[in-house]
Amino acid sequence: MEFWLILLAILGLNRVQGQIYGGSSYGAASGQAIRLGLITDDETDRIRQTFEHAISVANNELSVPLVGQTEQVSYGNSVQAFAQLCNMMQSGVGAVFGPAAKHTASHLLNACDSKDIPFVYPHLSGNAQADGFNLHPHQEDIANALYGIIKQFDWSRFIFCYESPEYLAILDHLMTLYGIKGPVIKVMRYDLNLNGNYKSVLRRIRKSEDSRIVVVGSREGVAELLRQAQQVGIMNEDYTYVIGNLDLHTFELEEYKYSEANITGIRMFSPDQEEVRDLVERLHQELGESEPADNGASTITMAMALTYDAVRVIAETTKHLPYQPQILNCSERHDNVQPDGSTFRNYMRSLEIKEKTITGRIFFEGNVRKGFTFDVIELQTSGLVKVGTWEEGQEFEFKRPAQVINFNDIDDGSLVNKTFKVLISVATKPYASLVDSIDTLIGNNQYQGYGVDLIKELADKLGFNFTFLDGGIDYGSFNKTTNTTTGMLKEIVEGRADLAITDLTITSEREEVIDFSIPFMNLGIAILYVKPQKAPPALFSFMDPFSEEVWLYLGIAYVGVSLCFFILGRLSPTEWDNPFPCIEEPEELENQFTINNSLWFTTGALLQQGSEIAPKSLSTRTIAAIWWFFTLIMVSSYTANLAAFLTIENPTSPINSVEDLADNKEGVQYGAKRTGSTRNFFLTSEDPIYMKMNEYMTNNPSMLLDNNQDGVEKVKSGNKYAFLMESTSIEFNTVRECNLTKVGDALDEKGYGIAMVKNWPYRDKFNNALLELQEQGVLARLKNKWWNEIGAGVCSAKSSSDGPSELGVDNLSGIYAVLAVGTIISIIFSIFCWCIFKKAKSYEVPFCDALVEEFKIVIRFSENERALKSAQSVYSRSRNSSHSIESLKTDSEENMPPEEAD
Ligand code: ASP
Repeated sequence: MEFWLILLAILGLNRVQGQIYGGSSYGAASGQAIRLGLITDDETDRIRQTFEHAISVANNELSVPLVGQTEQVSYGNSVQAFAQLCNMMQSGVGAVFGPAAKHTASHLLNACDSKDIPFVYPHLSGNAQADGFNLHPHQEDIANALYGIIKQFDWSRFIFCYESPEYLAILDHLMTLYGIKGPVIKVMRYDLNLNGNYKSVLRRIRKSEDSRIVVVGSREGVAELLRQAQQVGIMNEDYTYVIGNLDLHTFELEEYKYSEANITGIRMFSPDQEEVRDLVERLHQELGESEPADNGASTITMAMALTYDAVRVIAETTKHLPYQPQILNCSERHDNVQPDGSTFRNYMRSLEIKEKTITGRIFFEGNVRKGFTFDVIELQTSGLVKVGTWEEGQEFEFKRPAQVINFNDIDDGSLVNKTFKVLISVATKPYASLVDSIDTLIGNNQYQGYGVDLIKELADKLGFNFTFLDGGIDYGSFNKTTNTTTGMLKEIVEGRADLAITDLTITSEREEVIDFSIPFMNLGIAILYVKPQKAPPALFSFMDPFSEEVWLYLGIAYVGVSLCFFILGRLSPTEWDNPFPCIEEPEELENQFTINNSLWFTTGALLQQGSEIAPKSLSTRTIAAIWWFFTLIMVSSYTANLAAFLTIENPTSPINSVEDLADNKEGVQYGAKRTGSTRNFFLTSEDPIYMKMNEYMTNNPSMLLDNNQDGVEKVKSGNKYAFLMESTSIEFNTVRECNLTKVGDALDEKGYGIAMVKNWPYRDKFNNALLELQEQGVLARLKNKWWNEIGAGVCSAKSSSDGPSELGVDNLSGIYAVLAVGTIISIIFSIFCWCIFKKAKSYEVPFCDALVEEFKIVIRFSENERALKSAQSVYSRSRNSSHSIESLKTDSEENMPPEEAD
């Protein structure tokens, strides 16, 4: 009905055109050539090129040549297409090839049928009854092939995903084939009406228990579905796709090659066939198309192949059946038909053609093409590979060629959308740790750290996906003798993980079984120990400003200069004075520079004090001046240095080098991480010091700890324990633990790398990306972030608040001691040497009596006067056993001890 409405609408147009062409409605087509019309809506011009190429190939062996006439129409524009068909009829077309748009093709088919013009439709037809000439395998045969494949897979359930109702015929036939004991089939439609967004359907598939999917639909629809399946995350090793579209070989499958998803499909021809290669060459010449890569794929679509084959069938038919198409008028008032049209079409269907076709053997049973075979193809890393042949009536069986994994081929493959399992150690900050969050985190979101960020940066660059797995604290080693691996190494070697990133050191031993990326960080083994403690100030720290030699020379100078004063004083006449100035002609002269006075003068000058002694002669004044100058400089220097020496802390550590550690200096014990490269360094070293340390650690297994964090805790506890750890980890910990520090230089030099399976094909790409990150400063930024920003700054804040510290008694105890000792000495002098002892002796009283008496006078605080003592009274009283000396002596100077006068 619809068709006739359109036909009526077009008739007016035909009348106009009829007027333009004029002439009679009937007549033979010009010349002997048979005109073939192509009404195409393909904007790429590939169908037209194929059509023309097929005609030129066919004409090589035809006596009556074929002539092609192509009309381009807009997709889905039936009105325009019909107008073009009318034009063709009016030029005496012998057969018409229809466009891809289904409705348009259907209209043209009906129009051609009514005029007995063979109509070729090179697409899957939903209408088996149509009288067109269709070389496309019927839906039932596609169902038969899918049935054979699914049976081989031995599925008990699967999802049947179809694009539009016309594909339900395939499902229908599949269910017929299975009967009542078939697998569970879940049917889902991915609808073009959803604007090409199939993700909701795909998400439902992801959430369902099914992972086996049969997909049927148009070339564009199926290709888009696969693309979105990858975005939704169901294009991986857990999923199997069986594609019921014969154009699978033209899909862009590069992205799925390494997804490990199983994609199986069917095709009718191989890209290696001569006809296909010729056609590709023609497209290359005419359209400048590049040759496709030799990976089992082809750019030749089923529509092109069937167009080519249809021309071939027509050409073959013309060899057997003379055909002279007539000019027709497509007006509704003319019921003229192509006289030999239906005969020609029927003859086409009766032929069997085995050669020079693209899609293989051609023969028909009724309207349906039969006798062909399908290549069953499977996507592998090398591209599409033929894994069997399906033939009607035969049980299908996979015949996979032995798979040769050529890493060199894969090497060129990109990492885009590949998914890798990456091992991390969540107990090793800052490389990886669990995110603190009140929400329950799942998947990769649970982890943070330097290693996590670095993998994310690499993934951004290279386009791969990743899943983090906790690999524990054992990074692993390889035992050459037993040929066994442990820890993370084992996981990689046995294929349970693809990569490992943590503080994993690149070692030659590990390199034997796995590969490493270039180093992303450099380090060496060093010693972690508590910061040196402040040394307690020395008793005589006030002497520190001068060295021992300076003090010694100062002493010598003091004594020497004092002696000079004594000698020069004696030599110089000016220093000899009259002791009794009232006596003008004294018999004796006296010199002020006695030994005592000389010493006293130099002492006064040295301590920046004065004395009553004044040098008078030139020589004594000269030496006095020089001594004052000397003491000025000495005292200034001492004062300047004293402040610094009293306030500077001199921290001391029992260990300052690895040698100290090896000697267990001051009882310091040490250890390392029980497994890993640090321990291995000592186990394999031939240096005597490290061998000694290895022996110590082997004999003291309790010194070896499970991980670095335990080591840090043990050092912090302050029990004279040092931990051998890698410098980067030490750096991380010393920024956060203010009482810890690194002791000495690194013992070796090495680097951390990302571990990967041996001969991993993407290693170069990884290394390039790492180098780029290094050059762009990303590695430095990440290091700064995880070392100096997150969780750091504790120690620097504390030290900046430290002001100058006050001096304690400890700092000045020496001075107090000197004061005390000086005082005691003066008292002792006073008691024993000069005062009491001499008094007792002089008055001939017992020393104790004299001492008591003097003590009594001392404690009489209110009295500042005392009576002079007489020897007689003292003597008599002492004989009377009197304990007090009361008798007063008259003013007699000679009884007084000389020192008292002083
Ligand atoms: N980086 C070391 C390793 O790779 C571990 C350690 O000793 O801290 O084994």
